[in-house]
Amino acid sequence: MAQAKAAAENKLPVVAIRDLHKSFGALDVLKGISFTAREGEVVSLIGSSGSGKSTLLRCINMLEVPDSGTVSIDGEEILLRGTAPHRQIGDEHQIRRIRSELGMVFQSFNLWAHLTILENVMEAPLIVQKRGREEVEQAARAMLAKVGIAEKADAYPAQLSGGQQQRAAIARALCINPRVMLFDEPTSALDPELEVEVLRVIKVLADEGRTMVLVTHDMEFARSVSDRVIFLHQGAIEEQGTPDEVFGATKSPRLKQFLNAANHDQATRPDTGLLQAEQTQA
Ligand code: ADP
Ligand code: MG
Repeated sequence: MAQAKAAAENKLPVVAIRDLHKSFGALDVLKGISFTAREGEVVSLIGSSGSGKSTLLRCINMLEVPDSGTVSIDGEEILLRGTAPHRQIGDEHQIRRIRSELGMVFQSFNLWAHLTILENVMEAPLIVQKRGREEVEQAARAMLAKVGIAEKADAYPAQLSGGQQQRAAIARALCINPRVMLFDEPTSALDPELEVEVLRVIKVLADEGRTMVLVTHDMEFARSVSDRVIFLHQGAIEEQGTPDEVFGATKSPRLKQFLNAANHDQATRPDTGLLQAEQTQA
């Protein structure tokens, strides 16, 4: 992981966020956030419920338009115009192109119920990216195999477990060949025993060197998968660093308190065994 980080420092920023502010009415949700995810880096966002993690992630693909500040993807700044609260997308053509390169996986799986798993995975490459059907089907089947549900290609979402549906959603995001994968608590709607199969898939993607920004409530997972961890507190970055710094040499009292509470939660869940496997290998 340290080697990966050293290598990443010379790489170009894939996601660069500068001084992002966002309010909903009188509620200041993001209060000047800046961070960068470089090529191959996994950046995890942690923090209490309501600290602004989802809003921050949604600003990266402009599902939420920030009041001020900039988001750049691969060095290209997303164009916005006007001033808050009327700030809006500046160039629909540009945002459509950029969004087509961002693989987003939400808490809920957002699969089309009337399409098979294969059709769900093929939809964006065919319709948004206008790629050829044969190549797309091949890529889609490869992605389903990668997440371990090749045999579910012709099933409908309702016929799959939650963990399988979420893996299908990951396959769908991967099939657009995204520059970056954005995950917003991808396992929070799952039972613990289904959670682990999804976490394993995300870990494989991290180990392959995919650039990822990940919101997670699972501290053990954040520690095992991240190059950098950012702790958000009330819409500001309270602490950030490598997993060892953030979890092993915590500075902020607020982060200490948050981690204590998270540890308590995690101790009451069945053990996923993910980090243990890592440690015995190391
Ligand atoms: P987190 O993901 O860290 O739990 P969120 O980014 O979802 O936090 O929310 C941060 C705060 O912003 C919360 O108080 C939430 O209620 C508020 N919020 C989020 N989205 C909206 C919205 N569309 N309208 C009004 N308030 C919102
Ligand atoms: Mg959230």
